[in-house]
Amino acid sequence: MFPTTIAGSLPKPVWLAEPNRLWAPWKLAGQDLAAGKLDATVLAIKQQEDAGIDIVTDGEQSRQHFVHGFLELVDGIDFTRKVEMGIRNNRYKAMVPTVVGELRLKRRVHAEEARCARAHTRRQLKFTLPGPMTIIDTIADSHYGDRVKMAFAFAQLLNEEARGLAADGVDVIQFDEPAFNVYPEQVNDWGIEAMHTAVHGLTCASAVHICYGYGIQANLDWKATLGGEWRQYELIFPALARSRIDQVSLECRNSKVPMSLLALLPGKAIQVGAIDVANETTETAEDVTAVVAEALRHVPADKIILSTNCGMAPMRSDLAWGKLAALRDGAELARQRMANLNRGNGILLLPQSRQKS
Ligand code: ZN
Repeated sequence: MFPTTIAGSLPKPVWLAEPNRLWAPWKLAGQDLAAGKLDATVLAIKQQEDAGIDIVTDGEQSRQHFVHGFLELVDGIDFTRKVEMGIRNNRYKAMVPTVVGELRLKRRVHAEEARCARAHTRRQLKFTLPGPMTIIDTIADSHYGDRVKMAFAFAQLLNEEARGLAADGVDVIQFDEPAFNVYPEQVNDWGIEAMHTAVHGLTCASAVHICYGYGIQANLDWKATLGGEWRQYELIFPALARSRIDQVSLECRNSKVPMSLLALLPGKAIQVGAIDVANETTETAEDVTAVVAEALRHVPADKIILSTNCGMAPMRSDLAWGKLAALRDGAELARQRMANLNRGNGILLLPQSRQKS
């Protein structure tokens, strides 16, 4: 009960990339970089295992960025033709590359790190890929002339890579779709269909991660405009509930998402974000169980997986490891309280301060 996982990324070792920043430049090059990425992958697996994480990832140690790590091995993109584009509905501006021809994979994108991770752990292995809607929100187009058509072209490539990852022994493939929170109408029109293209024929479990973004200033400013209740998920959950995606990864800790919205996803396993990645305070086990207690009011216990709100790539590593330890301790405490409850001891799964007499 309550297995733990992480959204996907972890801080990189200081010898591999500059710490504490997104898009951190590599400190190695050529063969050294290729070898260093795999060393860092093994380290990330070991550190997750030591932190008691049940469903581990490669920590995204081989990618500079969660979208561009995939795009780098796609033919048909001109990385020298950078265009300034307002992304996530103009929340921030980014210099993005341009699609200039038919999209094709040059070769397998993540085979090395997936096989390396698989070889070094017996635990369940999750692997993340960017979702089609988030990709097309992060790239310019001068070839397809139709962004939806381009999204389905990317979805085909994602499917190719996802099938390869499943064959490599990955247990869960998660598509990161922060754009789902920004364009709910498009999610219902074509976003979930594109996701279905990406998971077509997959033999392992599938997941979608829909968050409110890393803890960077532009995202914090955006969150401040969303009001007292964040109900974005409500617009897309009914369609997601009907989808063939097995798991949904959500931001729940310190977010203003009403937890009652989780009831709109019957039958889905929920990766409940119980660790905030946007602050520097390490959660306590009680903080984590408080999120579990709220989730349990709307989701059956056997459908709850405990996770982080989002990736930890730009975080200080000592802070990240402290937060993962809190996740493990919180999961353990929640299991104990559930066991007590099942034995009829009547101990509610709530922190003492919040229990009602
Ligand atoms: Zn995220």
